[in-house]
Amino acid sequence: MKGFAYLRPGSVEEAVAAHAAHPGARYLAGGTNLVDLMKLGVESPAVLVDVGRLPLDTVEERPDGSLRVGATVRNSDLAAHPLVRDRYPVLSQALLAGASGQLRNAATTGGNLLQRTRCPYFQDLDKPCNKREPGSGCGALEGVHRDHAVFGHSQRCVATHPSDMAVALAALDARVELYGTEGTRSIPAADFHRLPGEHPERDTEIRPGELITGVLLPAAPAGLPSAYRKARDRASYAFALASVAVVLGVADGVVDHVGIAFGGLAHRPWRARHAETALLGAAATPAAFEGAVALELERAEPLRDTAYKVPLARNLALDVLNRLAPAPAPL
Ligand SMILES: Cc1cc2nc3c(=O)[nH]c(=O)nc-3n(C[C@H](O)[C@H](O)[C@H](O)COP(=O)(O)OP(=O)(O)OC[C@H]3O[C@@H](n4cnc5c(N)ncnc54)[C@H](O)[C@@H]3O)c2cc1C
Ligand code: SF4
Repeated sequence: MKGFAYLRPGSVEEAVAAHAAHPGARYLAGGTNLVDLMKLGVESPAVLVDVGRLPLDTVEERPDGSLRVGATVRNSDLAAHPLVRDRYPVLSQALLAGASGQLRNAATTGGNLLQRTRCPYFQDLDKPCNKREPGSGCGALEGVHRDHAVFGHSQRCVATHPSDMAVALAALDARVELYGTEGTRSIPAADFHRLPGEHPERDTEIRPGELITGVLLPAAPAGLPSAYRKARDRASYAFALASVAVVLGVADGVVDHVGIAFGGLAHRPWRARHAETALLGAAATPAAFEGAVALELERAEPLRDTAYKVPLARNLALDVLNRLAPAPAPL
């Protein structure tokens, strides 16, 4: 690992100013991804701005019923928070499906959103990778890509985004709050991560030097039935081959709220807009769920070795939708 300077600012404003004053600086939160990449030589910042102890470590309820989650809230604390478990079980389940207990104790909300892809070519300096080194090529495209995309990939990059939490946030219509030298703004969580296109080196819509300050969980899906399901190679400590987050509201047998997002299929959480449109206003029946999920997944463009992800994602989604739907009223 190369040498670096270490700064620990006391406020959000100081953190952003410190980052702006040191070109090439990186924010450090739990360090569970960034430090690993520094050891591999994939990242080599000259300055680390430690944001892990900024006063962004609370979950606050707002008068309108929404929850604001600070960027430095640890993944384990967020998963265990009573209001999150009660109102947004999909988020708690997604967090608990990620990494290990020790990692979740260190990992933060902001850092989890900005973790980098687990594509092995990205982590190997001897291999070509357009994300790590633009213009060098994509080793995975014709190489080992069983874990890679079926949606939204490009000739430049076929990687997937690894966060479980981000998939739940997308289904919940959460927003990511940012602060930078140009002020504050927020982005829908479903639009925060980018598709690779011509520029896979850019993972997200964050601007240089911007700090994630928090995530807003809207009131609308609070209390609706919701769940996360993840398929992986072993029972724990493994990234998703495919996963799904679902929020489902049903009144009088008819779907009146639905959010569906897939993980492990694309360079960002894949919000299943076609399936959602088909389901809104439809009867909450197994046949309707099957038709809607098929409508979404028929648009998939699997790579040589990722076609298995399509039926896997279908089965996960149908299992969750059918479990969340209320039982039909007796005749
Ligand atoms: C063995 C292993 C297994 C794992 N399994 C899973 C899994 O199954 N599912 C899953 O979702 N994750 C998994 N992870 C990833 C883990 O969840 C992430 O490493 C963690 O969430 C990153 O959070 P952090 O706070 O440690 O981020 P850091 O490593 O500190 O930072 C990550 C990135 O975010 C930036 N950053 C951090 N905070 C901010 C902020 N507030 N504003 C702007 N930029 C910021 C940093 O500059 C850096 O680029 C695994 C990790 C390991 C090592
Ligand atoms: S899939 Fe993306 S991250 Fe993986 S080698 Fe290709 S360009 Fe790099």
